Amino acid sequence: ILQLQQVGKIYGSGNSKLSVLKDINFSVQAGATLSIVGPSGSGKTTLLGLCAGLDRASQGTVTLQDTVLNDLNENQLAAIRNRYIGFIFQNFQLLPTLTALENVMVPLELRGEKNIRKRSLDLLDKVGLSERSHHYPTQLSGGEQQRVSLARAFSNNPSILFADEPTGNLDAETSDKVVKLLFELNQEAGTTLILVTHDMELAAKTQGIIKIKGGSIEANHQQLG
Ligand code: ATP
Repeated sequence: ILQLQQVGKIYGSGNSKLSVLKDINFSVQAGATLSIVGPSGSGKTTLLGLCAGLDRASQGTVTLQDTVLNDLNENQLAAIRNRYIGFIFQNFQLLPTLTALENVMVPLELRGEKNIRKRSLDLLDKVGLSERSHHYPTQLSGGEQQRVSLARAFSNNPSILFADEPTGNLDAETSDKVVKLLFELNQEAGTTLILVTHDMELAAKTQGIIKIKGGSIEANHQQLG
């Protein structure tokens, strides 16, 4: 479902160039679960962004669902993201002026879908937040915000879900709930799961682990095939 060939990323230009990723090669089978681990600043978030079409590789090719992302313009990339990708950001990125329910409704609205309100309520119910649907992000705890962001990421039935530190700011109990939801989605809907995490206990639950260090793959423990 995802292939990276000789992928590199350089931020900036001229004298202020910063090479963040180099020579990254790996592929992920549909339905697999994978963790990306490594020290702070090693390039994990950048790598996730390249895989999800949120940013462009400076070198090499990223292929998602048989489409080479490098060749696409912004509109085409957005279409791929809407159709195939769910993304959970490190800091949730909920829209502060919208309620939990409205945050989940936005991507469905953008795709011009029907029964948006009912479907969004169902998604919030799935993550255990029906009673909080009319609260604004600032009125929700970190764990609740994370679950809204999960409901939003599930809303397009993504083929592939990327999650950047999905348990990063959560207490043990909430973290367990979020992890359970992620793996349920993988098992029930066959959603491919790619996580960035510092939590080695979480990483050990995924089928594969890729270790990044200084912008390169230090170790790749994936069960291919
Ligand atoms: P952490 O675990 O702390 O979140 P990370 O492994 O996810 O770190 P990245 O966020 O990918 O690391 O950052 C890798 C490097 O790229 C860092 O040195 C960072 O300062 C730099 N960087 C990230 N985004 C940009 C940007 N938009 N412009 C310039 N440099 C950036």
